[in-house]
Amino acid sequence: MQLVFATNNKNKIKEIKNLLEHSIELLSLENIKCFEEIPETSETIAGNALQKAQYVYKKYGYNCFADDTGLEIESLNGDPGIYSARYAGGQRDSNDNIDKVLVNLKKIPNRNAQFKTVIALIINGKETLFEGIAKGTITTTKSGSEGFGYDPIFKPEGFNVTFSEMSLDEKSKISHRGKAVQKLTKHLTSL
Ligand code: IMP
Repeated sequence: MQLVFATNNKNKIKEIKNLLEHSIELLSLENIKCFEEIPETSETIAGNALQKAQYVYKKYGYNCFADDTGLEIESLNGDPGIYSARYAGGQRDSNDNIDKVLVNLKKIPNRNAQFKTVIALIINGKETLFEGIAKGTITTTKSGSEGFGYDPIFKPEGFNVTFSEMSLDEKSKISHRGKAVQKLTKHLTSL
């Protein structure tokens, strides 16, 4: 079966290719010659994942899946949420985003947060959603050099280090994306 992963992130494609059965041929947006920016205008993480998958399914006719992730901070009413990539502006700079979170949480004792990933899969018109959540807290300073995005300030529940102080393998076992991908691959192998 051919399946398009509606992302331009080569790391994500590589990561998921590793986890999928050989019977599934994973295609990228480049492979299907989809070079335009896919709209992401929903108010929710699940809505954005579904919007991206529907776009590819309707316009290109391929079975496909898309993912969307956000960091939800309890005392900021769930922000940055769907704005995670551009929290500090259109330049989408991770250091600026982290600095904005740390400033907004200054002197706020409740630092509970979670990462949420939703993967939307469409096979022959049937839509299925897979969710992965990683709970944790926001630290007061950055630590670690691995990973990306908000990893240097996110300490997952039950650990005394940030995601940035873990290897990719360690992070994937407990991360939001790792959990959602595990659900997706389990579903695909059961088809
Ligand atoms: P995306 O939907 O996967 O592109 O994620 C949106 C934004 O959330 C990214 O630009 C990052 O800032 C942040 N993000 C997503 N996944 C992670 C992660 O695993 N660690 C840290 N930040 C992440």
